[in-house]
Amino acid sequence: MTAAGTRPPADVPPGLLPALEFPDLGALLAERARGAECLWGGEPLSTATALDLGEHPSPHGTTLFLRGCRACTLRAVLAAYRHHPGTCEQCTDDPTLCELQRGLRRLALELRR
Ligand SMILES: [Zn+2]
Ligand SMILES: [Zn+2]
Repeated sequence: MTAAGTRPPADVPPGLLPALEFPDLGALLAERARGAECLWGGEPLSTATALDLGEHPSPHGTTLFLRGCRACTLRAVLAAYRHHPGTCEQCTDDPTLCELQRGLRRLALELRR
């Protein structure tokens, strides 16, 4: 059941996660390490506002459950979108054929709405 006027947040496809720049995962506060707060900005998150960023191993051998707020995730996606083509042979060739670049673009548009 979704109340009128609220939309579930977009999903971050797992294939795009490696392109996003995460803060130092070894130095995360407990709230951010378990996804209660935004990974980047520390905003308190609810299931309605959070984007799932998946499970990640921490340098300390624990598992992190990372989530981000919409604004910070959009910022990270746009940064990756600008940065990625310089590191990708496919993008040098033809960025419209790069799955990663297309995925980042699609997600940025989704998050902007
Ligand atoms: Zn945030
Ligand atoms: Zn590319």
